[in-house]
Amino acid sequence: MEYSKLADLYERLEKEPAKLKKTEYIANFIAQTPSSILPAVIMLIQGKLFPQWYEKEIGVASKMMVKAIALSTGFSEAYIMERFAKLGDLGLVAEELIKNKKQVTLFQKPLTIELVYTNLRKLAEIEGAGAQDRKMNIVKELIAFAKPKEARYVVRTVLEELRIGVAEGIVRDAIAKAYFCDILWFDASMNNPRITELIKSCSNAVFIFEKGTKEKLLARGKVSKDEFERFERNNKVSEKSLEEIKGMNVWKKACGVDYIILMDERLGNELKANILGAIEWAWFLRPDYGDITLVAKEKGIEGLKNIKIEVGKPVYVLLAEKAPSLQEALQEYEHAAIEFKYDGMRTQIHKKGNKVMLFTRRLENVTNAFPDLVELVKNNIKAEECVIEGETIGIDPQTSKPLPFQYLSQRIHRKYDIHRLIKEIPIQVNLFDIIYLNGEMLFNKPFRERRKILESITNIIPGQFQLAEQLITKDLKEAEAFYKKALEMGQEGVMVKNLDAIYQPGKRVAGGWLKVKPVMETLDLAITGALWGTGKRSGWFGSFILACRDQNTGKFLECGMLGTGIKEKKTNKEDITFKDLTEMLKPYVELEKGNEVKIRPKIVIEVAYEEIQRSPNYSSGYALRFPRLIRVRWDKDVTEIDTLERIKYLFSMQRGRESPTKR
Ligand code: AMP
Repeated sequence: MEYSKLADLYERLEKEPAKLKKTEYIANFIAQTPSSILPAVIMLIQGKLFPQWYEKEIGVASKMMVKAIALSTGFSEAYIMERFAKLGDLGLVAEELIKNKKQVTLFQKPLTIELVYTNLRKLAEIEGAGAQDRKMNIVKELIAFAKPKEARYVVRTVLEELRIGVAEGIVRDAIAKAYFCDILWFDASMNNPRITELIKSCSNAVFIFEKGTKEKLLARGKVSKDEFERFERNNKVSEKSLEEIKGMNVWKKACGVDYIILMDERLGNELKANILGAIEWAWFLRPDYGDITLVAKEKGIEGLKNIKIEVGKPVYVLLAEKAPSLQEALQEYEHAAIEFKYDGMRTQIHKKGNKVMLFTRRLENVTNAFPDLVELVKNNIKAEECVIEGETIGIDPQTSKPLPFQYLSQRIHRKYDIHRLIKEIPIQVNLFDIIYLNGEMLFNKPFRERRKILESITNIIPGQFQLAEQLITKDLKEAEAFYKKALEMGQEGVMVKNLDAIYQPGKRVAGGWLKVKPVMETLDLAITGALWGTGKRSGWFGSFILACRDQNTGKFLECGMLGTGIKEKKTNKEDITFKDLTEMLKPYVELEKGNEVKIRPKIVIEVAYEEIQRSPNYSSGYALRFPRLIRVRWDKDVTEIDTLERIKYLFSMQRGRESPTKR
């Protein structure tokens, strides 16, 4: 299939702001794409070459791209940089230069989707000596063979910024539309502009109407008799009872129907939810639309529902809900287990024979950064094939106490010095679930059974490789003592889990897990600086520097940067918008440098946050993690704001933890 067809699609998508239209363009395109290249096309439409967990990178930066464009078009790098500064997009620069190309490529052959995809994927595989040159050659050649518009998108794909506004939800809806009936329904007064529009303009499609719809539509005068007759001549239109529709296989390949038009909203919602639910389920288990599209096309809903975990490909994990208190959490479930809630990296561990792979909650592949964890799994998990979950935390080597997450986070994306960090920030793994064992998915087993299975395959090394500390109780006193113990040991809180619950990938399910952690008290702080916003926040300050006061000198000391809790638009009277805050602060601006503004401390705000961390980046030596605006404290003067002493105190009280040694 020619790449120019894909480039045309990209261009239409880039120009079209409406989601529904974008969905339609993609659906029409993939419906006509042969299965052999469907996964490639779906990947490319998302601007990707690999699923998100792939560990290798394309590794072509703008600088190398400028060189590649220079070599393939004959223009100088300086000129390309000049155009880049003007157009802000190397894709557009390449397009423009190919139009005015100085060098003529002999034997120009048309680019195909297969060729572009396989060649670009090679980029990630090239390593070692001369890698840069070899990568450049691939890109250079593709650009040389590309027509102007094709060059725009090849360049953007390589740079991983396609700019066509296709989010994950649009791809899901496009798959639904391409391979399953489109299900539409009228409201009680027979209104639905999309359906009336279809009746007036659609041709060559197959429709099924719920019995009685036509009569009601004509009686209400929503379309004329003539219009409906024309519609029936131009399309294949038939009627079915609700019962018949309910029993239909809505997979286009099986029923050959494009649209089902209903009056019954409930059935409409049900059928639609069944289709989207099947795609979503497949996505949670196999977050790769390349695979999913092929299954939807060739096996329909049943195929999607039967997608299995593939060891080595991560799945979206079960999420927790917040509980207002331990007592309420405990009342929620008939049979409850309470576990320590560790503050670390959620780790999805895949094991197949001697091969171990590690993924984060966001499905990043972190196997190479944790060789110590890989070894622990190899030596202590007694299963040929499994997928298990746990929380990996960093341990202070001096005190053996848990370290705040920020220490472990230094290890997560580490490519160098890994072995030094293994010594400095050793890990502890706390396993808490198993979802796959030797060919069997365990989602439908209750948690109590999954935990038993997990126990049976784990060889425990206390303090290093263990099961999450757990207590099974309904007694509030016992639960409170356990919670207190968790906090005293420096953990974040507890998880209350329903022992009877199944595992729902990708979801926050009622009846699954409830997290309980102490609420940090809010702080009143001054705003002493800001950064001008960009994008939606341009024209206003977009983030704000927070400061506390040194109780001895009265000096203002920075302790964080806030951009959350502020609204873009006012929907409630109490909302504070970026505009409001900017206008409040502008009279106190003292200095502007680039996009940074220094502000005289005048405005006091109340701030909530998740945690206080040590930080060399702020003059107070501390930083608030995830600060969020609660309100402006008009009633408070800056001399009354919270002090450094208070921040130090709250830091030391956090989770009963004393400050880590030596750090
Ligand atoms: P949160 O990120 O605050 O929504 O809390 C949920 C996260 O807590 C999970 O994604 C895990 O990474 C983490 N966690 C820590 N300990 C446990 C545990 N015992 N069971 C489940 N999740 C845990």
